[in-house]
Amino acid sequence: MLYSRIVETYTEIEATTKRLEITRLLVELIDATPRSIIDKVVYLTQGKLYPDFLGIELGVAEKLLFRALAKVTGQTEEKIMAGYKKLGDLGTVAESLLKDKTQASFHREALTVEEVYNVFDTIAHEAGKGSIDSKLRHLTGLLGKASPTEARYITRMALGRLRLGVADMTILDALAISIGGGKESRPVLERAYNRSSDLGHVAKTLATGGIEAIESFKVTVGRPIRPMLAERLSDARAILVKMNGECAAEYKYDGLRVQAHVSTKEVTLFSRRLENITDQFPDVRQLLKKNIEEEAVILEGEAVPVDPSTGELLPFQLISQRRGRKYDLEKTIGEIPVAFFPFDLLYADTIDLTDRPYLERRERLRKLIRKNEKINLSQQKICNGPEALDEFMEQAVADGCEGLMIKSIGPDSTYKAGARGWTWIKYKREYKSEMQDSVDLAVVGAFAGRGRRGGAYGALLLAAYDKSDDVFRTVCKCGSGFTDEDLNKLPKLLEKYGISHPHARVDSKVVPDVWFVPGLVLEIVGAEVTLSPIHTCGMNRIRPGAGLAIRFPRFTGKYREDKSAEDCTTTDEVVKMYRAQLKKIAANPLAEAA
Ligand code: AMP
Repeated sequence: MLYSRIVETYTEIEATTKRLEITRLLVELIDATPRSIIDKVVYLTQGKLYPDFLGIELGVAEKLLFRALAKVTGQTEEKIMAGYKKLGDLGTVAESLLKDKTQASFHREALTVEEVYNVFDTIAHEAGKGSIDSKLRHLTGLLGKASPTEARYITRMALGRLRLGVADMTILDALAISIGGGKESRPVLERAYNRSSDLGHVAKTLATGGIEAIESFKVTVGRPIRPMLAERLSDARAILVKMNGECAAEYKYDGLRVQAHVSTKEVTLFSRRLENITDQFPDVRQLLKKNIEEEAVILEGEAVPVDPSTGELLPFQLISQRRGRKYDLEKTIGEIPVAFFPFDLLYADTIDLTDRPYLERRERLRKLIRKNEKINLSQQKICNGPEALDEFMEQAVADGCEGLMIKSIGPDSTYKAGARGWTWIKYKREYKSEMQDSVDLAVVGAFAGRGRRGGAYGALLLAAYDKSDDVFRTVCKCGSGFTDEDLNKLPKLLEKYGISHPHARVDSKVVPDVWFVPGLVLEIVGAEVTLSPIHTCGMNRIRPGAGLAIRFPRFTGKYREDKSAEDCTTTDEVVKMYRAQLKKIAANPLAEAA
């Protein structure tokens, strides 16, 4: 097939904004394309050579194109650069320079689609020593054979800026009409696309196997599945109505969504946007390699940063620091390890599970994972009343999560790849607010450290003072903000307060490794005050059965040795802080919406 045939369609597409017209032009192009290269034509039209998830980019720098065009047209690089500055599109510059050279008068060997694709493919795989010269040679060769209009698109393509504006869905429409037997086949084609994220592959499957091959299209390990998305509600009753009275509630972890493709040969990790992120998470890769009991599996889960000394979940931002860091990745992994919480299973035992109901997928997932402290199924509870949902929500927030993911357990609970729907609903707290002030809290217990903090305390159990009952009620477990010096110092500082049982004036549902008489006071900052099923501060004051906790507490470095335990922040003050947060949100709901 001649490259000029594709370019003809590109020029016409550029001249219109009407989707129907673009579809018609694409149908004509597909009709004219030999089946054997349909995938290549689809990729080229999308301005790429492969599906995005392979991460293979052409990677030609502007400078190199200046050089190639200078060689082909006999103009100086400066003149080409000046033209580029003026027009803002190097493709147009290349076209007009080639026109000036009256290229048409030369004998020209016509470019084929295969040749253009193959040269680009060679350029994309070129790396290391001598690769720049080689890329230059290839580009010059290609542009030397190109007509002015072809040069426009070759130049744009090389820069990764083809930008025809053809949507994936328009290509699917055109495939349906041209090969699929009509527009009615569009939904099955879309289904195949959602299961492979690869339009070229879908086109090739259709072209070679017909619509039957598309109808029986299965997911494959190595090709990411477009993620299922959730709707959002903030009222437990409304959620239950949508779920027909009963649902599965899962912790909504505040981390990074990962789709893992695990085979005996390799583990590949994809982000929610389907980029290959395997290199950024060698620890997650290792976890999956070691703890999965099957040969070929596709699963989804959330990777969440954890405090290595306490195992507590940390804010999501800490994980995002990994992205883009190549050189000190190892150090970052040591300092901020992640835990992985699988929540769905899409393929296992050679079966495409996306059409199976949620409870079946979940049960298979449970059997598949060898759990340990770094990898465990998302926490889940079947709920059939708003109270149960709210109670589980408080527990989730107390455990460092941002809310719940509510999932249908009915017959409609298949995995809807690439779609947002009411069978998954996000249930987040309605507010999120920065804590205005620091608090001073009494140390009433401690937890033994793990890993790097072995032998020291990993976290402290902290309490506020309830003046009216003369009791200390717990409000958080804090393991952040301590320097190595603090960690060395704390056992000595606390030694004199140690006792073998909870102190009579300490009200705690949490059981630490060591108890203390309230004496030492520390200054703490946190993200916000939240309702909590496990802490006793302000118990029953806001809601029956719930206390208050400080989320993401961090030691400021200040030992309040000037304060006695009874001078620390009171439970009344914490209740006030919680109410002040709510008021702030009521005053400015948009700014504070979570
Ligand atoms: P959002 O990013 O706010 O639209 O919420 C959806 C995201 O929540 C998903 O893309 C996942 O990354 C994340 N998530 C956390 N826990 C779960 C879970 N148990 N089930 C599904 N998604 C979860």
